[in-house]
This record gives sequence, structure tokens and C-alpha cells, in this order.
Amino acid sequence: MTYRKLITTSLLLATAALAQIPTPESVLGHKPGDDFYLATYEDALGYFRKLAVASKRIKLVNVGKTTQGRDWFIAFISDPENLAQLDHYKDISRRLAISRGVTDEQAHALAKQTKPIIHIDGGLHASEVANHQHTIQLGHDLVASEEPDFKNIRQNLIVELWFSINPDGQTIVADWYRQNVGTPYEVSPIPELYQEYVGHDNNRDGYMLNMIESRAITKATLDTEPLVFYTQHQTAPFPGRIYLPPFADPISGNMHPLMLRWLNLIGMSIAQHLDDHGLTGSMHQETFDVWYPGYIDNIGNFRHTISFFTETALYRYATPHFYTVDEFPAVRQGLGTEMLYSSPWKGGWWRLADACRYMYEADMAVLNLSTKYREQMAYNKYRAARDTIEKFEKEPPFAYEIPREQHDAPTAALLLEKLMLHGIEVHQSSKPDAWVIEMNQPFAGLVKELFEPQVYPTLSQRPYDVTGWTLPYQMGVEVHAVTTPLSKQYRDSLQPIKEIKGLAAPFNRGTNASYRAINEILAAKGSVTFSGNDIATSGIDKGKLDSILTENHLRATDAKAGDSAKPIKGQRIGLYRSWVASMDEGWTRWVLEQSKFPYTNLYNADIRGGHLRDHYDVIVIPDMAERQILEGHRPGTIPERYAGGIGEEGAQELRDFVTDGGTLIAFNNASMFAVNQFKLPVENALATVRPDQFFCSGCLVNVHIEDTKNALTTGLAADTTVMFERGPAFDTKTGFKGTVLARYPRDHSPLRSGYLAGPDRLEGKIAALSAEYGKGHVLLLGFKPQWRGQSHAAYKFFFNAFYQ
Ligand SMILES: [Zn+2]
Repeated sequence: MTYRKLITTSLLLATAALAQIPTPESVLGHKPGDDFYLATYEDALGYFRKLAVASKRIKLVNVGKTTQGRDWFIAFISDPENLAQLDHYKDISRRLAISRGVTDEQAHALAKQTKPIIHIDGGLHASEVANHQHTIQLGHDLVASEEPDFKNIRQNLIVELWFSINPDGQTIVADWYRQNVGTPYEVSPIPELYQEYVGHDNNRDGYMLNMIESRAITKATLDTEPLVFYTQHQTAPFPGRIYLPPFADPISGNMHPLMLRWLNLIGMSIAQHLDDHGLTGSMHQETFDVWYPGYIDNIGNFRHTISFFTETALYRYATPHFYTVDEFPAVRQGLGTEMLYSSPWKGGWWRLADACRYMYEADMAVLNLSTKYREQMAYNKYRAARDTIEKFEKEPPFAYEIPREQHDAPTAALLLEKLMLHGIEVHQSSKPDAWVIEMNQPFAGLVKELFEPQVYPTLSQRPYDVTGWTLPYQMGVEVHAVTTPLSKQYRDSLQPIKEIKGLAAPFNRGTNASYRAINEILAAKGSVTFSGNDIATSGIDKGKLDSILTENHLRATDAKAGDSAKPIKGQRIGLYRSWVASMDEGWTRWVLEQSKFPYTNLYNADIRGGHLRDHYDVIVIPDMAERQILEGHRPGTIPERYAGGIGEEGAQELRDFVTDGGTLIAFNNASMFAVNQFKLPVENALATVRPDQFFCSGCLVNVHIEDTKNALTTGLAADTTVMFERGPAFDTKTGFKGTVLARYPRDHSPLRSGYLAGPDRLEGKIAALSAEYGKGHVLLLGFKPQWRGQSHAAYKFFFNAFYQ
């Protein structure tokens, strides 16, 4: 039965009408949204399998495996005759999305005859539980309900229902809640990331596609080319009950304007539909901007799929909560009517069932609107693609050229592989020897968005996320924008490519791929010797060496080990892992694994347990506040084994570790933990600046390497771009012993991309240093050298410390 039926008709009548199709409660023993109940992904999948056996209106499709190895299914729901022609309708969607070879007249005809695909999903932030709980009932009703709007939807649309877009997380969260429900820890935070590596950042990987899940979603989306991509979230600005488009400014100029018009129309349509159903408290335009293109529910706009998220209110998990008006922010306690908050919520109980119902009706609003305007929306997809091609026929950049020979060519190849995953067409030119991205292609706006420096508009409100991400800067890849029209002869000479072949960059310290190759050689018991930028190998079979190098886009050089040079030793690496689940730790772990550095996670008890030097040479502390490292979760807020941090005892063990010759590496704000706990003669020059003097929520800045011959900075470009995100900048004090590794420029702004207020505060300050302590070293990096698996140009800031 539908949520609506529950309210308006008797349970018996509705059940009798749909007797042959199993209801969620008949399978799960609970109605999704019940207080204190959460279905795991396995529960949801089990239910959808039964639904698919009982009805021809639903088809389950496997989209691959998740990071933790779960089989991942999505559901297509429509009338059986539409599902029988799913491939045909997918084909139409793709033809409209590409637009080439389709005339305006044909596009109108295709838009008229097609049954467009609409993507609705159960969210990727697993702690926002209504996201994936509400889709169970929605799936049932879309399949079983005979109400007119459901019939209409099935007749005219194909619903691509991702009942969970983070299956691993759904189960992690449900299992955690089940352990704690009814105990004092019922609403305690989850001590692990609900995506194996990146937790909440799983919605910040939309263009980089580092995670398996991001790639699966992108691949499926390019296959079905939905008109709408709608993702549920559950963090509404309080006391709003649901946050809807229009979003806050600023917004990228690289999207087709129609995408924004449609998402605003959809947002308003949801609000109106919710008020129609007595669901008050829709809110717009506060808090969340979508300047950062990495959200998986935003990136599609650059590919002409109307993509957006909404944020419904959440208390915690499936636990209900009663709100009184005096808990509201002062400005909203009067319950006044506002233009974009015209049905203020008045407080009272808020249950998981309420959140599920808001999401369910919001989905219905989107589906009803898409039913009504399907033809126009389908044509618009074509038009946006055609307009984009025409735009870049007439205006620069006409193309981007990426030379095959450069400082780190395999990383350039990686950048191109990422673009190809987004359906971007890449060509090879022979003169010059370069990869070429012609901009007269349907998704060119995405390329421009990722390649150009970001110029953040005048600050009207604090940015919600980082403000600059320019990939060629972050990855240290040389890219040239072509600003004069390409000749026909040049265009004709270009060869389309589907993969990067035949690249063989010199095996030296300049390329990140060399570090993976070194680790593979060491793992194969080979021997590696450094001489400056050069790498010499011995003790490994030539065939094995060649295959390692080829797989990494590398070729052997004639570098010979110097007489005095000693072979390097891979260091024993420990990576601090707090029970305050840290995305920065997860990203670090992921980057280490990608480059095949062996490591061990060190929990609080491992650090407090001591004897660290016996087992480790290098310990990495990812970006965390000093207090979080020392104190962790407060006792009483989480089951005891997860409470507390490393404490004074752990700090002493770390000091002993370095005294005995170990290396401690601290990322970003963890640097200040090291400065304070080791009493290093270093200070944070930004410690006392006010937000009106200096502000940066994440931008790309330049650092200058003091000495590229230093073992810790070999291989880095003399001027390297790093992600500065709320970090420290250092000055040394009297008594400092050690080496300054990198500084912000002394006489000009370090800003390369994004927004930075008060750039002079960074000028001349130290970005990275190595401080001597006992027989060991503390390496302080005042930025995020592994930021979201994107800042490849800065990886060597810590990779180099992993060899002796
Ligand atoms: Zn969310």
C-alpha cells in the first residue's frame, strides 16, 4: 500500500487489491520508516528480488560490485511493454544526449516517441537513513499501485531506481544502529567510514571517479542518459523540513542554462506538491551552493542531465525526536512566512517515517512533472548538447592540447582516462605529439570546468566547499588551451582514441607511477638505488622489470647506481586511524594502496601500547585537530571501546618513537598537534588572524620548493600546486633545527585557482618543513598533499619520506 493509502483508506482494502505483490512489511517484518528499525542493503535487495519475481513491471539489473564486494543491483520500473524495449529507449536517450547526426526535426520526433528514463536514488550518505529506507516503499508502490498518477508514470516513463547508491554504507549503518538501539548509545556516531575509504566524501568524487561506486554510477548514467538525476540527502537547514532547489549562489557558468531553469522549476514543483499534501517546511537557497562540481548529484548537469539533490530533515537514525519552537534559531521562532519558506514548520515530533514520506512525495513530484513535460525535457537534452557543440565551434577554447612528453606523463594519461570515463572524446595528434580534446563535443562544458582556473565570484556567503580544483594544476599536468580555430587539415589529422597506448615515460623520480613501480620491484625482492632524480635497479629478472614498467606507462633508463649509493629500503609505515572516522585518513589509505605502499593502520590502543620504533619507521597522522587526536570521542557518547584518543600516554609514545629515529608525518592541522606535543620551535602564522583578514575554504596555491635536490623533495616540480584547506602556515622560531622544504611565494599572491581572502598572509610563509627531533624527524605539511585523491602533483611530499 502507498503511504497515502495508509492515511486515507483502511489497511484491509488496500491489501486485498494488491494481494499478489508482496508488501515490504510482509517480507521485512517492518514497514520501512518504522521507529527504531533500519533495513540493511541485504534486506532491501531481498525485498526487491521478491518484487521482481512477482511483477513484470520491474527489472533488476546488476551494475557491478561495491568496494566491499557486495553485488549491486538497481531496478527499472515501467509498464512491461516499455521494459521489453528498454534497450531501444536507452538508445534514443543516448542519441539525444550526443545530438550529432540528429536533425532538429528528428530530435522532436524522438522526444515525442520516447519513454524517457528518470533516475531516482536512495542517497549515498548512509547515515542519512531515510534516503535508502524510503525507496523500499517507493519501489513497491511504483510497481503495485493502481492509482492514476502511478499508472501514468509507468505508461510514460522508465524509472531507474537505485534503491541504494551506497550499499556498503547502508548495511554498516543499519548494523551499528541495531547493536545500539535501546542502549544509552542508541544515537552515537559511527566509528568507521560508511564508504570504505572516503565516507561522506563519496559525494565529492563525481568528476575524479576514484571510487568504484562513482565509476559504476557514471557508467550506468552514460548508458541510460536519464533526463533527471535525483539524489536524496538528509541534512536540511534547521528548522526547514526539506531543502530544495533553487540552490544558493554561486553556480558554474559552464552548465547549459536550461539545466538550471529546469532544476529550479523542479524544486518549486516539489515544494508545491508537498504543501498540497500537508507537508510543510520546504526551504530553498540557504546554505548549500553547488559551486564544487564534484558532487555526483551535480556533475550530470555538465552532461545535460538535470541533476540535483534535496536535503530532508534528520534527527538520528530511526530514533524519533520532539522539537519545540524555542529550539529554533531566534530569527525563526516567530514562525513568520518568508518568500522561499512560505509554510514554516511549527515543530513537534519528527520521525523516520516523516522523513521517508517527504522524500517519497518529493520523488512523486519529480515523476509527475517528468510525465507531464517529458517531451520538452527530452528535446532540451538534445538542444543543450547541440548548443554546446555550436558554442565551441565559435568561441575559445577550441581545443586543449596535452603534450605526451612532460614532467609526469603517466599522470597526464590518468587525467585523460578520467575524462574518457565521462564520455569525453579524446584524440591523438602526431604533430605536435599530443593528446587533443576538441571542444566541439556535447560534454565540453565539463572539460572547461575541470581545466580552467576557477574565479570565484564576489563573496556573498561563505563557500560551502572548496573553491578551486583545476585538475591540470592539481595533477601537475601541462595543458594548453587552443584559442584560435582549428584548421580543417589539423582536425582531419586527429585520430580518436579509446585508451592510452604506447606511453613509455622515463622511469625516474618525476613521475608518480615510478613510485608504484618501485614498490612492485621491492615486493618482487628487486633492489632499487636512487641517484638524484634517477632510479637504478638490480636483482630483478628483466622480463619482470619490463612488465612492471610497461604496466605503469614507463620505460627503463640507463641510470646506473653510483659506487657509493646504497639501495633504498621501503619503510615500515603506520597510518593513524582514529575512531573519530576521518575521511582524510581514508583518502590517505586509498592513495597508499593505489601506489602499493604497504602500511598498517594504528588505532589509539596501538599507539598507547608503545614499542612503536620496533615496528615502524614512519608514522602518518592525517588531517585532524589536536584535541581529536588526544581525546577522540568523549566517554559516555559512544560504546566504551571507541571512546577517547591517544591521550598523553600516546603522545609520549610518539615522542619516544621519533627520539629513537622514527619519522612522524603530520598533514594539515595535525601539524599543530606535532608542534605542540613535541614543543617544536615552529608557529602557525595564521593562528591569530581574524576571518576578515584571511579566509580560505579550499583553493589551489603555489608553493616553491627550496631545494629540489633534497631527498624529501626530489621529483617535485620547482613550483608545485597544493590544496590549501583551512590549514596552518609556518614560521620557525629561534632554536629551530631542520630543513624548510617549501614556501609560499615571497612577493606575490600564491593563489592559482579559487577564492583566497588575504593572500599576503601566506606570502613567504613556510608550507612544508622537516624538523629534527632526537634521532628522528617530524615532517610538517601545512596543506592536504593527498586531497580527495586529486592532488597528484603533491603526492611526493610524503611518498619520498617512505624510503630510506
Ligand atoms: Zn548527504
